[in-house]
Amino acid sequence: MHHPIALVTGAGRGIGAATAELLAAQGDFVIVNYVKDDKSANDVVKKIQAKGGNAVAIQADVSIEAQVMSLFQHIDALPGQLKKLVNNAGILFAQSPVVELTADRINQVLSTNVTSYFLCCKEAIKRMSTNFGGSGGAIVNVSSAASRLGAPNEYVDYAASKGAIDTLTKGLSLEVAAQNIRVNGVRPGLIYTDIHRDGGEPDRVDRLASSLPMQRGGQPIEVAQAITWLLSDNASYITGSHLELAGGR
Ligand code: NAD
Repeated sequence: MHHPIALVTGAGRGIGAATAELLAAQGDFVIVNYVKDDKSANDVVKKIQAKGGNAVAIQADVSIEAQVMSLFQHIDALPGQLKKLVNNAGILFAQSPVVELTADRINQVLSTNVTSYFLCCKEAIKRMSTNFGGSGGAIVNVSSAASRLGAPNEYVDYAASKGAIDTLTKGLSLEVAAQNIRVNGVRPGLIYTDIHRDGGEPDRVDRLASSLPMQRGGQPIEVAQAITWLLSDNASYITGSHLELAGGR
């Protein structure tokens, strides 16, 4: 009997951590991937284990192919089989108009936010197509409301990376549908996480909350609930879709 394994990239904090904790509570063996700050990834693992769940923290920069390969080799050695993937790792740089963006920044955003999703999807699909007797698996790509809004004068590079993710989700979902692998996306709006500090505006969610139809920002757990639902058999006929998680925005 093989246990279902779920990989969540960038799961040391924020939406990834909340998703890892919820998947573990629902019975998956969870891989808490992190790139730096192993303390917070280990804290997520400890929290999961304290509640009787199973998890392991594995370091890998998912924008680098060799590290993705070793991450999946590590997973192959575990007593279980990969059933779920959440591509969640992402970066956001300080607000800037497009004319001031450097090639270095653009390339970093694209490799972290887009290349990593391609690489992890590729390795996951190779395994999901045969795991559990060919019964398939499920992938959720974390996009952003920015993919449709464009984020002018703020983060057009980030928004464009999320637009690429949306197209990856659509195209890949069609490529692998016959293998019973479902690929969906979520588009969070303004969620309370540290990414806004990295984006140079720690209080962004509070500043904009009253402009949202629901008059408030979202919590990581509210995104995690949608992701875990899309990954579950309760969403068994859904593929190539995007859920808007933006309080009506
Ligand atoms: P976060 O910054 O807390 O989480 C992102 C995580 O990704 C961090 O733990 C970071 O270390 C990790 N990461 C970055 N580069 C990595 C790499 N190369 N390899 C492995 N891990 C890496 O922010 P969050 O808000 O929880 O973001 C999670 C996802 O949600 C991101 O894809 C983000 O774009 C998306 N999102 C967030 C919001 C929001 O308002 N917070 C809105 C829309 C979309």
